[in-house]
Amino acid sequence: MLRIGLAMLQGARHEHEEALLASAIDLGLEIEIVYLRTAKDVDETIDALVLPGGESTAMRKASTSEGLLDGIYSWMDDFTARPVLGTCAGAILLAMPDGARNPFIQAGISRNAWGRQRQSFEAAVVVDLPLHESSNVKVARTADEFGHTPLAVDGQIDNDGSALFPGVFIRAPRFESESVTCDVIARFGDEIVGVIDGSKCAVTFHPELTGDRRFHTWLLQQIVNQGPTN
Ligand code: GLN
Repeated sequence: MLRIGLAMLQGARHEHEEALLASAIDLGLEIEIVYLRTAKDVDETIDALVLPGGESTAMRKASTSEGLLDGIYSWMDDFTARPVLGTCAGAILLAMPDGARNPFIQAGISRNAWGRQRQSFEAAVVVDLPLHESSNVKVARTADEFGHTPLAVDGQIDNDGSALFPGVFIRAPRFESESVTCDVIARFGDEIVGVIDGSKCAVTFHPELTGDRRFHTWLLQQIVNQGPTN
């Protein structure tokens, strides 16, 4: 049983949980989602972590009473090979940790650099991650009880026939491309919107709000690839 920690700071936590559970089914893995609320929750039994989006300043403040972010950063220092997925504000927290800590990804990032909340947008993103054969990239665009249909440009195909990723950018940060020295795995035009630095993946959009599970699958696959002893 793999234990996946979900930082309960802000943002679309339950959507991350759903995407992880669906990815686990795709991969035939048994996972348990652990809600991380205090530093004590982030112990050596956690195999991987998700840092959701939200508002990074609010997330930093919200975490001070229970020391959650500090606990997460210490866990990352202790278990450097264990995978982490940071989305949007989560990417900011990986690139710009608090205090004297070094960045966990070698990529400069600039907050709110696409403009204000109303300049949020959806765009097709080229992602360099494999699509699992059982993963369903088509979002069921059926309305919920409020009459709202899910976000996401789905089903778009790149020139080489690969599936484009439905990128949902909500007051997103921007990577400063000249500062990126780790692997680029997602681009929107010339813009870098996703990176992998060793065991850490950071994207400036919200994969959990779409039906494309490539990033959540990557996280689970990393745990399996690393083996049990780390
Ligand atoms: N604008 C937020 C920040 O700077 C990030 C937005 C998001 O996570 N959707 O922290």
